[in-house]
Amino acid sequence: MTNPDSAPAPTLPSSSPIAVVTGASSGIGAATARRLAAEGFHVVAAARRVDRLEKLASEIGATPFPLDVTDDTSVAALAEAVPECAVLVNNAGGALGLDPVAEADLGHWQRMFDVNVLGSVRVTKALLPAMLRYGRGHVVNITSIAGHLVYEGGAGYAAAKHAQHAVTETLRLELNGQPVRITEIAPGMVKTEEFSLIRFDGDAERAEATYRGVAAPLVAEDIADCVAFAVTRPAHVDVDLMVIKPIAQAAPHKVHRTV
Ligand code: NDP
Repeated sequence: MTNPDSAPAPTLPSSSPIAVVTGASSGIGAATARRLAAEGFHVVAAARRVDRLEKLASEIGATPFPLDVTDDTSVAALAEAVPECAVLVNNAGGALGLDPVAEADLGHWQRMFDVNVLGSVRVTKALLPAMLRYGRGHVVNITSIAGHLVYEGGAGYAAAKHAQHAVTETLRLELNGQPVRITEIAPGMVKTEEFSLIRFDGDAERAEATYRGVAAPLVAEDIADCVAFAVTRPAHVDVDLMVIKPIAQAAPHKVHRTV
């Protein structure tokens, strides 16, 4: 269904393969959009904050696209605008809170599931036909080390990322025999502008404490580098899973700090 209030669908160039990046308005998504554009993709940069997308798009020659991954109509409009798709990076997501299970804020849990899990499923489902029309495709899901390990206070986020991991693995089984590659990228601590700020509801001090004393957390470009590596392998090579942490981080809860 088309959103009657939405702007007319943009015309995408037919000369470059199309890469859709969700959550491209900041952090890992923005860095990935920049990197994939540099690799020769025409990027559809999608997120809710269109002003940020427009700025990025004018820098890298991308198409900005307003998208809420939790909204069926919004995702349907994206699918309508992207008739053929080579790469989909399901990056939109994040964490909310750091509460023990006994004090779980179920509203936070619901939102984490809606964006990280159902959001990536919704967009994947909508764009798979566009990949098959293109002749081949590649779904890259940005999960987290929290999709593989747990830590105290992180149950809601870890449960959502474990679910996203399970969906990614299932998709690879179900699409076996089809020309669609499935890659999971599971980052550890990445210092991005907004991730921790959103997690702690705008509390800058608490957000900054996440990275306190960590000599060199990952940066968004480190993850964009991994996405670029996976999608630029020869078409028969499927990179299943990349787990990337800063050297100071041995596990989600085991971080070497100098202060
Ligand atoms: P940011 O908070 O910087 O970016 C999150 C992006 O998701 C924003 O562009 C935001 O855009 C978008 N987004 C959020 N909700 C929606 C929605 N409903 N529809 C569409 N877009 C949405 O986080 P990061 O760049 O750090 O994280 C990106 C991904 O990497 C996430 O999935 C996160 O869980 C994962 N990750 C991050 C780690 C880290 O340490 N930073 C570690 C491991 C994984 P807008 O608000 O404009 O819609």
